[in-house]
Amino acid sequence: MITSAVHTLATELTGDDLPAYVYDLPALRAHARAVRDALPPGLELYYAAKANPAPPVLRTLAPHVTGYEVASGGEVEHVRAAVPGAPLAFGGPGKTEGELRRALTLGVERFHVESEQELRLLAGAAEDARIDAVDVLLRVNVPLASDELGGAALAMGGRPSPFGLDPEAVQRCLPLLSGAGSHGPLRLRGIHAHLASGLDAPAQLTVAAAIADWARKLSERHGLDDLTEVNVGGGMGVDYAHPDRRFDWAAYGKGMADLALRHPGRTLRIEPGRALTVYCGWYVTEVLDIKHSGGEAFAVLRGGTHHIRTPATKQHDQPFQVLPMDTTATWTRPWARPAVREEPVTLVGQLCTPKDVLARRVQVPELRAGDRVAFAMAGAYAWNISHHDFLMHPRPGFHYLDT
Ligand SMILES: *Cc1c(COP(=O)(O)O)cnc(C)c1O
Repeated sequence: MITSAVHTLATELTGDDLPAYVYDLPALRAHARAVRDALPPGLELYYAAKANPAPPVLRTLAPHVTGYEVASGGEVEHVRAAVPGAPLAFGGPGKTEGELRRALTLGVERFHVESEQELRLLAGAAEDARIDAVDVLLRVNVPLASDELGGAALAMGGRPSPFGLDPEAVQRCLPLLSGAGSHGPLRLRGIHAHLASGLDAPAQLTVAAAIADWARKLSERHGLDDLTEVNVGGGMGVDYAHPDRRFDWAAYGKGMADLALRHPGRTLRIEPGRALTVYCGWYVTEVLDIKHSGGEAFAVLRGGTHHIRTPATKQHDQPFQVLPMDTTATWTRPWARPAVREEPVTLVGQLCTPKDVLARRVQVPELRAGDRVAFAMAGAYAWNISHHDFLMHPRPGFHYLDT
């Protein structure tokens, strides 16, 4: 599970060097290459930068992705600087006029427009900047029949949503788009939808087919010959309870190849975040103390959910591996080493809140003060979604291993 490069560093760092995020870039490179190889050649792969925008991560992905999906003015600037020249698709709700102007100045390649007002703001900004061709994908809440996913309870398209446009609103947008009525700067290049996260490959394929069919009908109904792109979003599932059960990219790639055959002349595009980078990162720390309360065992770790908020937001146990420290950190204190054996233990951090739990009542053979704990699946939605400044503990170290 833990790669040997990460294991070595995790045990070599001193206690005061911890906690630390350790990223295995060769592992990320191998994973991204495998994902790319499983996909049909014509399918475009964008990486959703919000999952982990660290520059070494963005740069490691660069040879394997077509471009990056960015969701704020900050991400536009950041990703442009980290991977100059890579195509950007600018999505996300509530884009300000200032962000749109700046994105136009930076030559952002695609705009995923989320509302009628945003479309008007973008058109105005493009006219002011005398830019005569801006490529737009409308983000649509494509309606899905409730049986299309075998009744899976998910926040799906067709439900009320702050994101994207309902189908009726799409109709109202068409007159603002060139090729569909207007002679303005905005060109309708395609449809974008990001309807759900955490789907397995068969469910993702069902959703992708529904989006592509919807786009085809729209284009046929209105004679939109330039509508050649369909972005079916991200949300490829990862399983925190079973880190080894990976999204079936091979099956997904086959299904997307079939879908492409049914939609000749259209470019299919996906924009996963989590499923690309989650496995390449570890949050490594040490056990400071072990104690019992009310008959239950608690291990207090250096750090906590202010560094890795993932288990608190997703209400799961973050998967981890214990790295026993026997030789290098031999217990030298003149009292017994706090420890638990063959007993469920709750791993908590240093915050003064009962929510600072990383894993709850997990069974470990043995855990002692001074042992290291390496939390896996910390490469996406981990550091960058966390409330770093709460309680003013030191920041973790960051190590991007690349050999
Ligand atoms: C967050 C997001 C993604 C990536 O989702 P993952 O679950 O990380 O794959 C892709 N597209 C949009 C529009 C998003 O908001």
